[in-house]
Amino acid sequence: MESIPKISITDRDKKIYLDELERNAIMYHFREHDLIFIHDPQPLGLIKFVKKKRQPWIWRCHIEIKNTNKKVWPFLHPFARQYDGAVFSMPKYKKRDLDMDQFFIAPSIDPLSLKNRHLSENQSKKIILKEGIQLDKPLITQVSRFDKWKNPLGVLQIFKSIKERVDARLVLIGDMASDDPEGPRIFNKVVRQAERIKDVHIMTQKDDLLVNALQRTSHVVLQNSIREGFGLTVTEALWKETPVVGTKVGGIPLQIIHKKNGALVNNAREAADWCVKLIKDDKLRLRMGHEAKEHVRKNFLVTRQLYDYMNIIDNYTSTVADDVMKAAKYLKRLLLK
Ligand code: UDP
Repeated sequence: MESIPKISITDRDKKIYLDELERNAIMYHFREHDLIFIHDPQPLGLIKFVKKKRQPWIWRCHIEIKNTNKKVWPFLHPFARQYDGAVFSMPKYKKRDLDMDQFFIAPSIDPLSLKNRHLSENQSKKIILKEGIQLDKPLITQVSRFDKWKNPLGVLQIFKSIKERVDARLVLIGDMASDDPEGPRIFNKVVRQAERIKDVHIMTQKDDLLVNALQRTSHVVLQNSIREGFGLTVTEALWKETPVVGTKVGGIPLQIIHKKNGALVNNAREAADWCVKLIKDDKLRLRMGHEAKEHVRKNFLVTRQLYDYMNIIDNYTSTVADDVMKAAKYLKRLLLK
C-alpha cells in the first residue's frame, strides 16, 4: 500500500512558489507557440501568470498523484483546472477531480543514449573495474536517488539476507536531487548502516556509462521502492537483459511480468529469495533477460512515445503533417513485430 507523505505547506511556502513562477513567467515567450506542455507540479502554476492564453496548455505529470496530500492538492488544483488536458503515465493515475481531457502515455527510454546504448561485456567490465568494484562475485544493483521512497535501507536488509545464502556484491548508486532536503540525511544513514555489511559499494557520481555498465553486468537489478512514479531504472535494466526484482508500486508492475522477466515481490524476504534464485540459476536468468528486452522493445522505447505525443499535438493543433504522422505510426508498428 502506498502511503501519503505527511507534510505541511505554509503560507510562506505558497508565496515562495508563486513568486518564483511569476518571475519565470516573465522570462518565457508563450505567445509564439502552438501548444504548451508543462512538466510536473513544480511549474504547474505558471498558467496563473499568463495574461492571455493563446494556445492549448497540457500538463504532463510524471509522478503518481492519485492519492494526493490533503493540504497540497487543494492549493495546486485551481492551477491544474486551467489546463486543456493532462497526460499521466498510466490509466490508474486518472484524476477524477480534473474535468478535462486526460491522456495516458507511459514513459520511455532512448536506446541510443549513453545510458542505454550497447556496451560489450568487456567494455562494461572495464568501466566497473575502474571504479574499484571487483567482479569476483555476482553483482546486485539498485540505481536510485537516496530518497526514502526508494528505500535504500530496505535494500541493505535484503542484501544481508542474500549474503547468508550466497556470496555477492551490492552496488547502490544514486545522486541526490538538488530539490530534496532529505537526501543527505538518508544518504548518511545508508552509509552508516552499510559499514556493518561486507561487499557493499555506495556511489554518488552522476555517470551514465557507469549506470549502463552496472545495469548490464548485474546478475539482478533491484527496485525496492515504497512509492514510485513509473520507475525508469526498471525499464533501463530490463532493456539490458537483466531481470529485475521489484515492488508492486507505481509503474513497476507494468514493466515486470512476474516470473517472466523478473519478480514482483511483497516484502524483503521474497525479494531476497528471488535474488538468490536468479543468482544461482543461469538458465532462468538468461531466459528472463531475453523476455525483459522484448517487453521494453515493444512497449517502452522512445519511438512509441514519439507517436503518442504527436497524436496529442495533432489532436489540438492539426499542425503535424500527414506523412510525419504516418512515419511515426510506422515506427511504432515496427516495434510490435
Ligand atoms: N539515475 C542516474 N544516476 C543515479 C540515479 C538515477 O542516472 O545515480 C537516473 C536513472 O538511470 C533514471 C533516472 O535517474 O534514468 C531515475 O528515474 P526513475 O523514474 O527511476 O526515478 P525518479 O528518480 O524519477 O523517481
